[in-house]
Amino acid sequence: MAHGQDKTALITGGSRGIGAEIAKRLAADGFTVAVNYASNPGSADAVVKEIVAAGGKAFAVAADVSDAKAVATMFESIAEQASEVAVLVNNAGVMELAPIAKMDAGTFDRMVAINLKGTFNTLQEAARRMGDGGRIINTSSSVTKLRQPAYGPYAATKAAVETLTAILARELRGRNITVNAVAPGPTATELFFKGKSDELIANIKKMAPLERLGEPSDIASVVSFLAGPDGAWINGQTLFANGGAI
Ligand code: NAP
Repeated sequence: MAHGQDKTALITGGSRGIGAEIAKRLAADGFTVAVNYASNPGSADAVVKEIVAAGGKAFAVAADVSDAKAVATMFESIAEQASEVAVLVNNAGVMELAPIAKMDAGTFDRMVAINLKGTFNTLQEAARRMGDGGRIINTSSSVTKLRQPAYGPYAATKAAVETLTAILARELRGRNITVNAVAPGPTATELFFKGKSDELIANIKKMAPLERLGEPSDIASVVSFLAGPDGAWINGQTLFANGGAI
């Protein structure tokens, strides 16, 4: 099923974790994939090589999404190297956990800069440049409903992403562009495992009635659906993908 033929998909934070799996899945769907990364060119190149080896099309693009100028340059570079972005997947994100009483201001600012402002920066470029039939998929988190202690600032950035999603969908009226968000539950990546004990991980696995962590491929499947023809009627929504944890 190569519905992405002749279309370019940009995956922010496509070099590792969930983003790398989304990049591979959309390449298999036929899209030419721009694999964005911030600090780790080796990982982005490895994803590009894997896609090309499987017969797909991909290239790596550097940009810290929190830097509006770098994001504008990245969109320009993608248009020159391939074509205008037809599918934007805002996946780049960072998570630091601490109770509100203990969270330091620098960490708070960094999460807002990458998760919220970073999403805003690419949405702004996409809203200005994207053509008819475009798809935008943002990344929230199931913590916006789970609301566990220590997730406050992180969950707040993701709740803001859900709000931007719903409002941009309405602002793009008449252009045949859908804007949605995916809200994964706990998913087996470096971001999730960092700082968690085996016991805590075992407990988190039991949160969902399906009694396992999500895999990056579980989330990539949802993104593929939203980016493809079968997802055409979903607009302005946040899809929670967490095995039933909430
Ligand atoms: P991850 O394994 O830590 O990967 C993060 C990716 O984001 C990397 O490719 C990283 O690239 C990139 N990135 C970080 N800061 C960036 C920046 N300023 N500009 C551009 N790229 C940047 O994380 P993950 O678990 O796959 O998470 C992906 C998304 O899903 C995030 O938005 C996260 O909040 C969300 N999410 C994850 C879970 C989970 O349990 N894993 C659950 C719900 C939601 P570099 O290596 O180059 O920095």
